[in-house]
This record gives sequence, structure tokens and C-alpha cells, in this order.
Amino acid sequence: MSFRALKQILRPSSLKSLQYQASRYIQHNGKITEQCSNPASRGLVLGVYADENDRLDIGVLTPTAAKYNESYTSGRLLELLRLAGPMPKRGEVRILYNLEPTYSAVAVCGLGSECLGYDDVEKMDISKEAIRIAAARGCQELQQLETSRIYVEDFGHAESAAEGAHMGLWVNQELRSPDQRKFVPQLQLYYEPELPCDSNGWRIGLAKAEAQNLARQLQETPSNLMTPTTFAQNVVQILCNSGVNVEVKVRGWAENEEMTSFLTVAKGSCEPPIFLELSYYGTDMKERPIILIGQGNTFDSGGICLKPIEALTDMRADMTGAACVVAASRAIAALKLPVNIRALIPLCENMIGCNAMKPGDVITVKNGKSIEIVKTSNEAPLALVDALLYAEHFGPKYIVDVSTISKATIESFGKVCAAVFTNSEDLWQRIQNASIHTGDRVWRLPLWDYYTQQICSAEHVDVQNMGLGEGANSCKAAAFLREFLPCGKWMHIDALNVMKTKGTDFPYIRRGMAGRPTRTLIEFIAQSVVQCSDCGSTSTPKMGHRSSCTISSRLIASLSALPDTHQMLQKTCRDFADNELVPNAARFDREHLYPAEQIRKMGELGLMAVSVKEDYGGTGLDYLAYAIAMEEISRGCASAGVIMSVNNSLYLGPLTHFGNEEQKQKFVVDYTDGTRVGCFALSEPGNGSDAGAASTTAALKGDHWVLNGTKCWITNGYEAGAAVVFATTDKSLKHKGISAFIVPKDTAGFSLGKKEDKLGIRGSSTCSLIFEDCAIPKANLLGEPGFGFKIAMQTLDAGRIGIASQALGIGQASLECAVDYANKRIAFGKPISKLQAIQTKIADMSTRLESARLLTWRAAWLKDSKKPFTKEAAQAKLAASEAATYCAHQAIQVLGGMGYVSDMPAERHYRDARITEIYEGTSEIQRLVIAGAVIKELTA
Ligand SMILES: Cc1cc2nc3c(=O)[nH]c(=O)nc-3n(C[C@H](O)[C@H](O)[C@H](O)COP(=O)(O)OP(=O)(O)OC[C@H]3O[C@@H](n4cnc5c(N)ncnc54)[C@H](O)[C@@H]3O)c2cc1C
Repeated sequence: MSFRALKQILRPSSLKSLQYQASRYIQHNGKITEQCSNPASRGLVLGVYADENDRLDIGVLTPTAAKYNESYTSGRLLELLRLAGPMPKRGEVRILYNLEPTYSAVAVCGLGSECLGYDDVEKMDISKEAIRIAAARGCQELQQLETSRIYVEDFGHAESAAEGAHMGLWVNQELRSPDQRKFVPQLQLYYEPELPCDSNGWRIGLAKAEAQNLARQLQETPSNLMTPTTFAQNVVQILCNSGVNVEVKVRGWAENEEMTSFLTVAKGSCEPPIFLELSYYGTDMKERPIILIGQGNTFDSGGICLKPIEALTDMRADMTGAACVVAASRAIAALKLPVNIRALIPLCENMIGCNAMKPGDVITVKNGKSIEIVKTSNEAPLALVDALLYAEHFGPKYIVDVSTISKATIESFGKVCAAVFTNSEDLWQRIQNASIHTGDRVWRLPLWDYYTQQICSAEHVDVQNMGLGEGANSCKAAAFLREFLPCGKWMHIDALNVMKTKGTDFPYIRRGMAGRPTRTLIEFIAQSVVQCSDCGSTSTPKMGHRSSCTISSRLIASLSALPDTHQMLQKTCRDFADNELVPNAARFDREHLYPAEQIRKMGELGLMAVSVKEDYGGTGLDYLAYAIAMEEISRGCASAGVIMSVNNSLYLGPLTHFGNEEQKQKFVVDYTDGTRVGCFALSEPGNGSDAGAASTTAALKGDHWVLNGTKCWITNGYEAGAAVVFATTDKSLKHKGISAFIVPKDTAGFSLGKKEDKLGIRGSSTCSLIFEDCAIPKANLLGEPGFGFKIAMQTLDAGRIGIASQALGIGQASLECAVDYANKRIAFGKPISKLQAIQTKIADMSTRLESARLLTWRAAWLKDSKKPFTKEAAQAKLAASEAATYCAHQAIQVLGGMGYVSDMPAERHYRDARITEIYEGTSEIQRLVIAGAVIKELTA
């Protein structure tokens, strides 16, 4: 998620403090140098797009630059720029002087092509990176001129512009005498009053950049000035009044806590070890915290296994993990992110002394495991062991540790990305998405048992800190740390290779310590939890939730207009669908095969409980996110789509909205990870559309409800572990006498009918549920007696958004199949895509799909905004299902004969599409709902 999505929740007061904190260093430097600079000098940084492969491209100014060009320079800026030669390429700058009186110099920076964006191979948003580079290069050029105040435009993404500008200007010069310091100008966002200006995005970018600069400052400080004690003192000062509480714990405390491993590393130094515990409460104190662990070795000599001199010079920064965690904690607090953080920072030095640990020493840590210290220079994992064990006290939501362990990562990656190891697909997806946004990339390495065997194979001890075998030290270190992990989600970031830069890796980070991956860590946390202050939700929703509350319906115009969260979610689901579903969908269909493995993986990705709160194991996203995910999954496989839809909206939906705490713990928590699914049983042989005429009965006998009757057409019936079943408890009250029950599959008297042989969605099961004196505990009544019909109708309202999205996915797959074939199929000497008759079909398919998509997103947005959405959900389902059948029908026509055979997916899409007009209310019923609402609206 982008911080842009957070901007609305930042209260003005927090913005003020954020601005103050973020610019502290710059102002500090600026004050000193401004005295000797021209106080009147102002510089302006603007952007220009140009195709880098076309030297003759005359360039297009950004909207802000174009406005400045016209309003203040009467076109001279562009004229001079063109006269100066070819347009500046990405990262190049042209300085123009005395264009008009306000700015003494204008830096025009190349942004590359206007069409840059997310690059799947690079795993980066190239346009944001181009902005960071442009802003940094422009500012650096003006800095050379000792311009006292630099105004930077937002380049279309203010957050990236602020990041580039602030990081680009930062210089490590605290220890130089003031008169020798490089001039550091003051920065400000430049905007044109008539153009949109994202000042909050600017401030958020500034907070992130300042956090990274703070981490750099801490890393750079020499170890004689940054011992464990001085590090702790600095942290107390830095976090003073920040909202982050700091506890400084000394050796005696660590001894009481039996932190043997940490204390062993510290033994060789006369500097006492310190254990810092930072806490930040951004949400309900009862919420489980996220644990951040930062490795804090303020100097690592390697101990008795002394490091070579060339390695020693950088070992002041072996506290990179600690620096990133402190800096990220400050930014998280400044941004008031609604999350609880507990940061654990073991600080010590690894030195040679008479007490120093020796190769071959064996220690036993608190979980009873013995560790042999094979190599004293591999002390980083040892320093983290006790923090990991200590983390268990807090019942963490998940744990992230940042450390600088192995130079193996330099050999593998150079300095481009940090290595990530995790036992959670979900955490991996989130950190990857965060890094795509920040440009500070990460890459996942294996956490396989192979490496565990290498560190656990000695006969005389449980674990060794080096293990057997050549190389893979980073992987072995991760496997080592896993041995001390409390259960739960965990991510280990090995940042040794990105600790430092020669100044050529990123134009916006000068030579020296790099402060990475601070921004990615902040973005990752921001993606995890965002509280909505507008709609008053007190849960811990993700960014998607926030977005849905803030975007206006005007903005739901296209995916690219949606917040980054939703775009990234769409990408994640699309990648999953392309890799896991598309190659298998035909087989699932042909063999009537339930895609168990894929559903489990979807569970890991959080797709089986998208809008269920995290407290119950769900993903905590909004319904718009659900709609987007649902479309992508169904585009890959409509069967997987309906299985996901039924579990999310028909089973978990009513349970989370109407269930009590005990029911949620029992019937929600286990149904969120894809290993179990649920079903929803409303239809009966005698009634489908007329849902109020249920003939299945439930009678209260003692402390049990006894169910009798048959439900039919039940999706997921075969695999479901439990069903939400509707039965009449008082026939005289007609539909007001229907109640809802939760029936576990293993209940006596509950059996399944035959699996239906269907036209489409054949990878999902559909069958009857038969209840013969089926007794369930009284506690399994969902909601109040007689509330069943209301529960069913409300559930179907939401469910229709899911089916609309499923239909969009099928329709989109049909459209893509048709276009692909039309481009390849030659008739009358040219591709049939050149024929107008074919183009008309493609235009109509696309237009119907886009209209239906807008209706679907609007219904989701209304639901997320807690506004009525019954009519809109019905309109969405009606439009999307009819668009899907239309597109599938036309796709077959475009493919001709090939459309009619199962070699191509078009015929499957045609069969799959048909059901979307039937279940969860036929198109006729949707029209009844819509007409009823419209007539009421217009008659009122
Ligand atoms: C593959 C599949 C999966 C399903 N999954 C589930 C599930 O998980 N859970 C569940 O409870 N049900 C499920 N259903 C049932 C589905 O919701 C019903 O089939 C649907 O609601 C239509 O009901 P019906 O089949 O009884 O048709 P009927 O209600 O008999 O309708 C027949 C025709 O009459 C029309 N019609 C009926 N009433 C009116 C009216 N008042 N005005 C105008 N036209 C009308 C209908 O639109 C339709 O064209 C599933 C069905 C299928 C085929």
C-alpha cells in the first residue's frame, strides 16, 4: 500500500510534528550554512518526459512545469530547453538561469517516457524510481550552486519526489567542522494553485526519507562514538516526545532473563551490553503487537576469528538492523499508524578480550537448545537468538528481524536488494509489494530443511552457528534463527549487502551507509494495518479498507486510479492466477477436480477470508479488494472463483456479521487459510428463487435443534467442514419463521446427496445436503430465532458483489482469449483483428465489461462506506453476468471452429459464464430487486 492511502487519516497535528521531525536534520545543517549563502537564492526543480531512445523527441513538460512555463516564462523555458540540445534523459538535468525573477535557477530533470510504470521483471515501479532520481539530481545540482531554498514539484507522485529530494541532499558531515560542511538547502514542495497538489503525499515521503537518513546517520557514526550505551542514549533522545516509549535494560536484566547467547557475544568487550525495548501503541492496547528485532552490534571485530582489515572498516554499521528499526519506529509513530509495535534491540560489541567467546565454546539457551560457536565472527545470529525467544512474551502478531549477517548476499545480489527469508507467503507478498513501491527492493531466499540439517547435524550439540557444507551462509543463518523462533509468522531480512553504497547504486543515495531497508520496512508495516478514522471502524483493517473509505466514486474509474494497495493486490492475484490456475483450469473442468492445492495456496495469500478481521485469521481488507481479487482468480479459473466466493461471502460473511464470539472462534478461525471451506444452504428442491418458502424444519428439543429436510444445489457441499443452513422454526410466520443454523459436517443425521454433473464450474462441487433428525446444539443457532431470512438476504446482497466479480473474471478471460486469437488468426491475407466486424465485437465486449466493472466497484465501495447497496449489488450482478455470457458467446464467434472445441478455453468460459445468471438470484430476480428499488426511489 502506498502512504498516499494513509494521507487522509493523518490529522493536521500529526502532520505538523511529522514535518518538524522529518526536517530536523536538514534545518540543522541549513542554519549553519545559510549564513554564508545568498539568502535570496531560490531554485526550482521541474520535470520533462522524453523517449530516451529517440534523440529527436522534443519532450513534454510535466503539468506543473508546463503551467510554470506558460504562466511565468511565456514559453521561454521550453524554448531554451529545446535549444540546449536533446531532452535530458532519465537522471539528467539541465539548469536554466534567470528565466524570471522568482527563481534564480531552474533545474529541468528528465523523467524518461511518460508511459513508465510497474515493471514485472524489475519488480519495481519504474515511474516512481524515475521521480526519486529526478528530484534528487535536480536538488543536488542546485545544491552545488548553494541555492538556499529549493522548491520541488511533485512530478505526479509527491511521495516519491519528497523521498528523492530529501535523501539526495543528505550528507554525512556531522563530524566536519561547520565551515567545511557542504551546503544543505531548505526544501519545499512547489505547486501551482490551479493544479492538484498532494501535499500530504509529500509529507509522507518526507517522513520515510528522513527515517532512512536517520538510519544512515546512526550507521555512519564511528563505533568509538556509538557504543551500546551511547546508542541507547541517542535513541532515548531521538524518540523523546515521539510517542515511542524506550526501556533501557542492562546486563543484570539480561542475566535474569537467561540471555546466554547475547551475553556470550558481548563478553569480549568492556563496553556493557544493553537491551533496548521500544513500545508504540497505535491501536487498542489489547491488540497483539508486531515485533521488530534489530541486530545492534555497534562494532564487530569478528572476535577471536578476527575479520580482515577491509571488512573491519565497515563494522561500525553492524548495527544496521537496530538503526533501521529505531528509524522505522519513529516514522510509524509520527504517521500515527494504527498498529502496536514492540521493538527489541540487543546492543553489544563483538571484541577480542580475555573473556571473549572462543571457537568450539558451547552454550545453552533458554529454550534448552545447545549451540556450538564454531566461528566467533558469525556472531550476528547468536546476538539475535535471545531477542527471538524473548519475543514470545508478547504473543506477537508476527516477528520481523533486520540484521546484517552474511556477505553471501553480496555475491548473489550485489547491492541491489536485501535478502528475505520467511515462513509466511503473506508476509513475503506484503514486503515485496512494499519494496515495489519504495524502490528499495527485496528478494526471497529459501528457508528449506536442507539448511536446517546443515546446522543441526552435529552429534554433540543441537545447533552450530556455522554448520556443514560450503557457502549458503545467509540461508544457514536463517535456518539457525528459525530454531529459536516462537511459533507464528516470521520474516528475517539479511541486509548486509545493502548496508553501504558506493554512490552509484541509486543517484539519490550518496556514497556511504545507505540506511536500507528502512523505507520498505515502514511501507510494509503501513500495508499491514491502517485504521479508518472516517468510518469509525475499530478493527485492524488493511490499506484497502482505508482506501475504500476515502476514495470517492469519481475515482473508481479505473484500476490505475485506485490506491496502490488495490493495484498491488490485483497484481498478486493475477500472477497467482497466471501461474497456478490458468495452466490447470481445463484439467479441473475435464476431471471435475476440486483444486485443493490451489485453494490452500489462496488461503495462504489471504484470499479465502479477504474481509474477515485479522483477529479471526482473516486478511482484514475491504470489499473492493475482495471484488478485485475475486475477478482475478475467476479470470484464471471460474471454479476456484466460486469456491472462494462461497467461503468468503456466503459462509464467513453471515458468521462474522451475525455470529457470537464463541461461534466465530469455532467456525471462522479454521476456515480462513484454505485448508477448510464452508457452504451456504438456502435452496431446496421445491424453492430456489422463492427463498422464503423453506420446507426444511428445525425443532427445539431440549438443548438441541433437530433439523429435517433437504437442501439442494449446495456449492462446496462435498468439501465443506460446516454449513450455514436455513430452516423453518415457525411455519405460521412464513419467511419470518426461518432461522439460520451452523451445522458441522460430522453431525449425525447429516448426509450428502449425489454430486451434480454440471454444465460449467465443474471444479467445484454441487450437491444436496440431507438432514434426517439431525440434532445440533442450541448454541449453533446463528443470530436470533426468526432472523434467518434477513440473514440470508443480507448475505446474498454482499454475495452478489462476489458473483458479479466472478462474472467479470470470466468475461475478461473471454475477451483476452478473443483478442489473442484475433491477432494470430489470418483470414483473407491479414489478421482477423483488422476486420471491422471483429473489432466491433471486441469493442462491445470491452465496453460491457468496463461498465459492469464500474457498477461492481461502486456496489463494493457503497458496502465499504456502510451505505445501502442492495440495488447496486443487484445491478452489478445483472450487468456483469450478462456481460460475461455475452463476452463468452462472442469469444466463441471470434474463434470460429476453434471456439467450439475444448482445445481452446473459449467453450469453457461459455459454460462457466452461464451459471452467473442463475445462482445467488437469477437475472429475473435481480430485475425485480432493481425495479422495486427504483420505483420506490422515484415514487417517494
Ligand atoms: C451450480 C449451482 C450452484 C448453486 N449453489 C448454491 C448454494 O451454494 N447455495 C444455495 O442455497 N443455492 C445454490 N444454488 C441454487 C440457486 O441459487 C438457484 O438455482 C437459483 O436461485 C434459482 O432457483 P431455482 O433453480 O429453484 O429456479 P426457480 O426459482 O424455479 O426459477 C426458474 C425460472 O423462473 C424464474 N422466476 C422464478 N421466480 C420468478 C419471479 N418472481 N419473477 C420472474 N421470474 C421468476 C427464474 O428467474 C428462472 O428463470 C446453486 C445453483 C446452481 C445451479
